[in-house]
Amino acid sequence: MTSGRLSGKVAIVTGAAGGIGFETAALFAKEGAKVVCADLNEAGVNKSVAKIMEIAGADAAIAFKVDVSKEDQVKALIEKTVDTFGKLDIMFNNAGIMHPEDDNALNTEDRVWDLTMDINVKGVWYGCKHAILAMRKSGGGSIINTASFVALMGAATPQLAYTASKGAVLAMTRELAMVHARENIRFNSLCPGPIRTPLLMDFLNTEEKKQRRLVHVPQGRFGEAIEQAYGALFLASDESSFVTGTDFRVDGGLASSYVTPE
Ligand code: NAD
Repeated sequence: MTSGRLSGKVAIVTGAAGGIGFETAALFAKEGAKVVCADLNEAGVNKSVAKIMEIAGADAAIAFKVDVSKEDQVKALIEKTVDTFGKLDIMFNNAGIMHPEDDNALNTEDRVWDLTMDINVKGVWYGCKHAILAMRKSGGGSIINTASFVALMGAATPQLAYTASKGAVLAMTRELAMVHARENIRFNSLCPGPIRTPLLMDFLNTEEKKQRRLVHVPQGRFGEAIEQAYGALFLASDESSFVTGTDFRVDGGLASSYVTPE
C-alpha cells in the first residue's frame, strides 16, 4: 500500500475538472487515496484523471460524469465508488457555480437564483446524504463542503444568489456535524478566499479591478488552488480527527481584517 497521509482511504471530489477540485484530487491521490473525480464537464474530468494517473499511478483515480443537482446521479456516483473501491472515507462536495448574471436583490432573476441553489446547496445536500449512507457502513468518514469567504463577510459587488447559497452551505454543514458527530462522521466547510483561477482573473481583467480586491487581503495577493487543496487534505485526513463543524478559512487573513498592512 502507498504510504501517505491518506493511505488506504477512498475519496470523492466533485468539481474535479476545475481549479480547486483538480488540485485537491491530485493531492489526495499523491497522499495515497483512491480518488473518484466527478464533474459535469466530462472531457475536463477525464483530463484530470489522466494527469492524476501520471502522478500517482493508473489505479489512483477514476472519472465519473455527474450533475450534482440531480439526486439519482449523486446516488449513482457513490454506488460506483463503493463498487470500485469497496467503501467511501472522504467526500469533498466542491462543485459550485457563480452565475455570470447573478446580481443584486433587484436584478437577479429567478432562474439564476434557482440554478445556483440547485447546484450549490442541493448538490451539497445530496452529496452529504448519500455519503452518510455509505460512511455508516464503514464506521465513519470526513465530509468537506466548499463554501466561500463571501458567506462570512459582506461585499459591495453583489452576487446575491451565490452569497446566499454559500451561507446555506455553512449552516447546513454545522448542523450535519452535530447530528452525525456520534457516528464518527465529521463535517467541515472549506472557506476559500479569492483564488487566482481563470474564472476570477477573467472577471477582474484590469490591474485596477485586481487592486480593488487586493487592498482587502492582508497577505496582499490572491490565493492558489493548491493552497485550498492543502486545507482540504488536513480536513480529510485523520490529523483533523477532533475537528468538526468548522468554517475552515483558507483566505490569507481576509475574514479577520479591518485595516490591512500598507
Ligand atoms: P471552477 O469553476 O474551476 O470549478 C468548479 C467545477 O464545478 C467545474 O469543473 C464545473 O464543471 C463543476 N460543476 C459546475 N456545475 C456542476 C454540476 N451541476 N455538477 C457537477 N459539477 C459541476 O471553480 P473553482 O474556483 O475551482 O471552484 C470550486 C469551488 O470553490 C466552488 O464551489 C466555488 O464556489 C468555490 N470558491 C471558489 C473561489 C475562487 O476564488 N475561485 C472562492 C471561494 C469559493
